[in-house]
Amino acid sequence: MSGYQIETKCIQSGWHPKRGEPRVLPIYQSTTFKYDTSEQMGRLFDLEDSGYFYTRLQNPTNDAVAEKICELEGGAAAMLTSSGQAANYYAVFNICEAGDHMICSSAVYGGTFNLFSATVKKQGIACTFIDPDASKEEIAAAFRPNTKVLFAETIANPALVVLDIEKFAEAAHEHGVPLIVDNTFPTPINCRPFEWGADIVTHSTTKYMDGHAMCVGGCIVDSGNFDWEKYPDKFPGLTQPDPTYHGIVYTQKFGKGAYITKATAQIMRDLGSIQSPQNAFLLNVGLETLHLRVARHCENADRVSEFLQAHDKVAWVNYAGLKDNKYHALAQKYMPNGTCGVISFGLKGGREVSVGFMDKLKLIAIVTHVADARTCVLHPASHTHRQMTDEQLLEAGVAPDLIRLSVGIENADDIIADLAQALDTI
Ligand SMILES: *Cc1c(COP(=O)(O)O)cnc(C)c1O
Repeated sequence: MSGYQIETKCIQSGWHPKRGEPRVLPIYQSTTFKYDTSEQMGRLFDLEDSGYFYTRLQNPTNDAVAEKICELEGGAAAMLTSSGQAANYYAVFNICEAGDHMICSSAVYGGTFNLFSATVKKQGIACTFIDPDASKEEIAAAFRPNTKVLFAETIANPALVVLDIEKFAEAAHEHGVPLIVDNTFPTPINCRPFEWGADIVTHSTTKYMDGHAMCVGGCIVDSGNFDWEKYPDKFPGLTQPDPTYHGIVYTQKFGKGAYITKATAQIMRDLGSIQSPQNAFLLNVGLETLHLRVARHCENADRVSEFLQAHDKVAWVNYAGLKDNKYHALAQKYMPNGTCGVISFGLKGGREVSVGFMDKLKLIAIVTHVADARTCVLHPASHTHRQMTDEQLLEAGVAPDLIRLSVGIENADDIIADLAQALDTI
């Protein structure tokens, strides 16, 4: 599908039925697959032939959806995972082991921060967090001889920081490591990080890709551009024999597919965070309208952010689509068609006023989610960060009055009317 535009890929990539096969991607609701001879099956286990034998490793429904996301990102290979958390964990653990070090932007999703600051630490992988606005020199200063990965989010959740992808990619490559970027918020519709030098992209498909808040899921896409063999001592898992597959060397046998083949054949085999084919089917239905929905999310968020900014009860608005936003220029460079539908803002009068306002909303629901079709809000100080004092909240970068508003694809007038009536009550 490489000659086609991204809208066409959303609809047509991934599943290519042959004569008499179902037009719509089928759900291969089967754990296992049949062969005629023991020899045929044995070759699959040795990675000598490609084919399906057990859904924990690969399933045709999942593979078709992974291929679609791979084409949307412009990558070389991709795999689905059971969640965005699993995608980020596998993406790092595929090339890091005990004794290694990684660097991560401090403006990342809370679950990702916990994963890298606490859980991978218990496995012997150290992580240094850096300012997302760090200069190249400051990023360089965080590298150690055993650093294997630089990690960041294209648009950070919930801080809405826009990443300078080229700067981070250059810093990573000057130190011989790949840049992994979590591209959940812009989606490949608005930003394709490989075009700016990122090497690996991850997604929580739970958000815009699914788009309907139906299925938790994740995806890892490899650009195939990072030259692992240039640093054979740094990435032995890819460049040296794997004894669990009779000594095959992933880079030699699979070329641009080495990273994803290893993550599938080894990490997924052993840790097993597979996406169910049923969920992959639903994800694919979401992907078919991704280009329509993302454009509408951004259009609505533009209108809502302008309404909020002009309202005299609103203290501040953070949305990179606004001209006076700190990240507007970066957003224009990397995401000229729009950023995403998520806005954060605070009300004059602070925390108590923000909470009172949210309770008055009628159409907009209070839920722990972002980036789906229905407009929703969350107040981190009362919900995800509720154990903290106001002082601790500020240290964590979460203003006590911060309201995270995920603008959906309803009619923008109705969303604004709901915000307006709730603002009127305070
Ligand atoms: C939600 C989210 C995740 C985690 O994904 P799950 O699918 O909830 O496991 C990771 N990164 C970002 C940017 C997210 O928004």
